[in-house]
Amino acid sequence: MHKLNIGGLFMIKKETCKNKDFVVIFGKPGSGKGTISSMFCKEEKEMHNLNIISFSTGEYLRKLKQDPKMYKLYKQEFDKMDQGKRVSNKLVIAAVKKAIMDAEDGIIFDGFPRNEYQAKWLYEYLKSIGQNLNSVIILDVPDNEVLRRLSSRKTCPVCGKVYNSDYKSNYCKCGHTLIVRDDDTEFVIKNRLNDYKKYSKEVLSYFKSLSDNIKFYNINANRPKEKVLKDFIRVF
Ligand code: ADP
Repeated sequence: MHKLNIGGLFMIKKETCKNKDFVVIFGKPGSGKGTISSMFCKEEKEMHNLNIISFSTGEYLRKLKQDPKMYKLYKQEFDKMDQGKRVSNKLVIAAVKKAIMDAEDGIIFDGFPRNEYQAKWLYEYLKSIGQNLNSVIILDVPDNEVLRRLSSRKTCPVCGKVYNSDYKSNYCKCGHTLIVRDDDTEFVIKNRLNDYKKYSKEVLSYFKSLSDNIKFYNINANRPKEKVLKDFIRVF
């Protein structure tokens, strides 16, 4: 709250810029970033009526790819994606900027930032609008578990929901046919895993180099999702 002194009278002006929650979720492909962050957002809505969203740049790109016009326009970028390589900074930053501008109570960034340039952009953009990056939460899972999880998962191309091998139907609960992601093949999974090891080091060392109040947490994500969620809620 700001106090304004107008003609000797103090008036209280409501803060126009409230503090929102901006958190980065980090973890290898298949570590459960999407699952845990969407469970968390649902819980925050139900328990505290907070509209925190989980913004996955990968999911955003997969939806964009479904649009024939966009596919033609960004074909080169989608080809990179199918090989497990990163797309251009420009494309993802534009989408993240819009998500931040629309954010009501906060965002969990999933898949972003993926290099120092994106990390620096995120940090500086949040500062420029009077917001902060609160924390980076890392989901730890060993490589063999990642390979096991990803080689058996199916995804809904429309709503983005992910199903593991326990789910036997070929249809999403929203009614659409499930697919195997174009980049969920063994060769591409290994590329994505190697890429994660590179970019997570780069991004974490950038954030750690800032003399700021960003907090870092590691969670053992090689456990049932309810237990991982409990720890996520505790540190968020
Ligand atoms: P993963 O399961 O590997 O974490 P994501 O769903 O986060 O996959 O991303 C899928 C693909 O989308 C990446 O391999 C990359 O091609 C592209 N992508 C997603 N986020 C970014 C980003 N921040 N910068 C560049 N490319 C990205």
